Amino acid sequence: MQSLWNEAEAGELAADDLSARVYTSRLLGRDKALVLYGGGNTSVKSVQTDVFGDPEEILWVKGSGGDLAGIDRRGFSPLRLAPTRRLAQLTDLTDEQMVRHFRMYLTDPAAPLPSVEAIVHAILPHKWVDHTHADAVVTIVNTPDGAERVRGIWGDRMVLIPYVMPGFKLARSIAEIYPREATDRTIGLILLNHGIFTFGSTARESYERMIEAVSEAEAYLARHARVPPKTGRASGAAPLAVAQIRRAVSDVAGRPMIVSVGDDPAAEAFARRGDVTSISQRGPATPDHVIRTKPAPLIGRDVHAFAGAYRAYFNEFAAGKPLTMLDPAPRVILDPELGLLTAGKTATDAAIAAEIYRRTIPMILSAEAMGGWRPVSRADLFDVEYWDLEQAKLRRGGTPPVFTGEVALVTGAASGIGRACVDSLLARGAAVVGLDLNESVASMLPRKDFLGVRCDVTDEGQLRDGVASAARAFGGIDMLILNAGIFPKSCMIKDLPLETWRRVMSVNLDANLALLREAHPMLKLAPRGGRVVVIGSKNVPAPGAGASAYSASKAAMNQLARVAALEWGGDGIRINSIHPNMVFDTGLWTKEVLESRAKAYGLTVEQYKTNNVLKTEVTSRDVAELAAEMCGPLFAKTTGAQVPVDGGNDRVI
Ligand code: ZN
Repeated sequence: MQSLWNEAEAGELAADDLSARVYTSRLLGRDKALVLYGGGNTSVKSVQTDVFGDPEEILWVKGSGGDLAGIDRRGFSPLRLAPTRRLAQLTDLTDEQMVRHFRMYLTDPAAPLPSVEAIVHAILPHKWVDHTHADAVVTIVNTPDGAERVRGIWGDRMVLIPYVMPGFKLARSIAEIYPREATDRTIGLILLNHGIFTFGSTARESYERMIEAVSEAEAYLARHARVPPKTGRASGAAPLAVAQIRRAVSDVAGRPMIVSVGDDPAAEAFARRGDVTSISQRGPATPDHVIRTKPAPLIGRDVHAFAGAYRAYFNEFAAGKPLTMLDPAPRVILDPELGLLTAGKTATDAAIAAEIYRRTIPMILSAEAMGGWRPVSRADLFDVEYWDLEQAKLRRGGTPPVFTGEVALVTGAASGIGRACVDSLLARGAAVVGLDLNESVASMLPRKDFLGVRCDVTDEGQLRDGVASAARAFGGIDMLILNAGIFPKSCMIKDLPLETWRRVMSVNLDANLALLREAHPMLKLAPRGGRVVVIGSKNVPAPGAGASAYSASKAAMNQLARVAALEWGGDGIRINSIHPNMVFDTGLWTKEVLESRAKAYGLTVEQYKTNNVLKTEVTSRDVAELAAEMCGPLFAKTTGAQVPVDGGNDRVI
């Protein structure tokens, strides 16, 4: 492991204690082998002047729930050091009391709630304190003779702390053990089944000691834990099998869930090991992972059996306590054929579970090579999973957006109405797959809940791949927006080449038939029922001269949608159409085209744009919002409907 300390960067940023604290916290956060998703915290003890001009000793400690990688000054909570430190002298303190006292000791009421490890940071006498769950250290402390290994590697440079619950109990334990065992040579603490603390008199010293200690752990593993090379093949996970698993996971969770295929050869090799059932079931690398991964993965596909076992685990350890069971759905699934699958309420949650588990696999294998993987007991794990403060973190989420956990597929997603539909669906919490002929769709939105796939919708093979991509990225398709279409140059029937006609039919009609057929098994498995929205056209009820191919293709599509509404109602799938007109903020309508059309009608551009009954302009966003609403609860009992969004057209009315 390399130190990322950069003198120039540090000099620029480290103007005061807090800036330096932000800088080295980010350095830690940058390396996933040190810190994963909230799994670490840092602090600095500093002096601040209060409003009376009096100096006051402050502990700046990372706020709860934040991430070190992107932390800034506002991510740290300023606590009065003396009373925070004194809390460790109490014999007992509930989580609720601890949080209340933290709030009282904050010198800024707008600051985030401090990390649960704030008291540990307060009692360590050093100015700078860094804490991580570094992979290499956690691997060593999750072995049967972890304590001896720690003593062998670090001697008295590290004080060994047996596992206790994080928070107040850990602070009490450290307050008792550290003063007794620390020597002049001590640079930190190793926490069995948990992680590592380092400290120092400068930001750099504390950070470099972390790097040094973790590097020693890595070197130790290289000598003592030969891990077999990664073997396996990239997953060819069957899309329908993934969608079936997602349906079962969603049923058990009581809400739609995202399921992502890991596509990781090492994870697939792990899933196929003969001893996977034994080694994967003992527990996560550090207890805080339980929130993301549940106590253990599901092996195979029996989601209901997993849920039954989870209920039994809850009943065993919750006995007599007033706790509400979390949903019993698995978050990590290891299947010999499909490899690693992860589930989450959102695409981000599923991605985090995947990243955590991918990192856990080599840790388990290394520990197995050193006598066995021995994480904390189920009882200890349960205490963290059902910890008040962890529950509070989950509750803080508020009401999720309406399509949370659902998946939408949009064609023609790179521009115009399609692009607007992507935005409207993402804003409602859906994970979205966008297909487009334009390859820019792939890099259009770099976020975990969007996947852009280049696709020629007239190619059945590419469409099948597009549907498979949706299953692999998010677990299926719940909503389908049929938007891709072409509008050829105006041409009278007497001059219309068959080639043009066929081209328009192939994009506007045939491609949609193929996509409906390919998506049907997924839509049928949608946890809340499948929904299809067809972006039709005013030309369906009111065709235009010179637009025969376009008008006929849209009319035929309209009829196809009506028949699909009849055929698929029994599968719980709703299909509705939208008929937009004169949507000018699309690539089709350049400034020049607009000006020439307006002139042809003897109107200004403004008059031309609002040339409808309501005298209003229709935008891509108007169409997209209606499409998204049609997928929502407002239209839950509507299928086979056609709704104009055209500002009112006298030929249609
Ligand atoms: Zn920790």
